[in-house]
Amino acid sequence: MKKVKVGTRSVVPSKIVCVGRNYVEHIDELGNEIPENLVIFLKPNSAISEELQSFHEESLHYEGELCFLFEKGRFSAVAFGLDLTKRDLQSRLKVKGLPWERAKAFDGSAVFSPFVPIAAVHPSLALELAIDGGQMQAGDISLMMYKPDTILAEISTFMTLEDGDIVMTGTPKGVGMIKAGEVFTGKVMQEGRVITEGRWRAR
Ligand code: MG
Repeated sequence: MKKVKVGTRSVVPSKIVCVGRNYVEHIDELGNEIPENLVIFLKPNSAISEELQSFHEESLHYEGELCFLFEKGRFSAVAFGLDLTKRDLQSRLKVKGLPWERAKAFDGSAVFSPFVPIAAVHPSLALELAIDGGQMQAGDISLMMYKPDTILAEISTFMTLEDGDIVMTGTPKGVGMIKAGEVFTGKVMQEGRVITEGRWRAR
């Protein structure tokens, strides 16, 4: 089973619960409708990778996201995560109303910075993604349609979160294709200070 780093520990998530369409400007950029309910899909443990790939049967697209680790009934740690997506395939699946797993749950489709423990979900939590030093994405909790506490409550109405499970909270605008050789730097900030950071060179 794949692991993620949480402070000085390693944790084995049983699953990754992902939120789709949580930032209005990202919904607009993909031409999607604002959902009536929280959009949720899953990635399995086997999706976790420490490497950033640019290609898996087709070119991959990045989505930078604030990611929370669930332990003992609450979000206990936060990381920057990349929800890698086969956008062309996802578009074809969406048109037919089919599940997204082939486009979202493949091996290596979930990449995380180290998780840093948090006492609570601070409302100032924000993310930034830079590619080759240029900022491509920026977002924070204030821009989310569904805030982390609402997401946790909604998931809990129908699915048990196990200790170590991860929730990816959706991506702000600025998604795009990954090109081999690009250097991705993803950061999480709290009150303007970087609290965790990941850096990957795309393969
Ligand atoms: Mg996403």
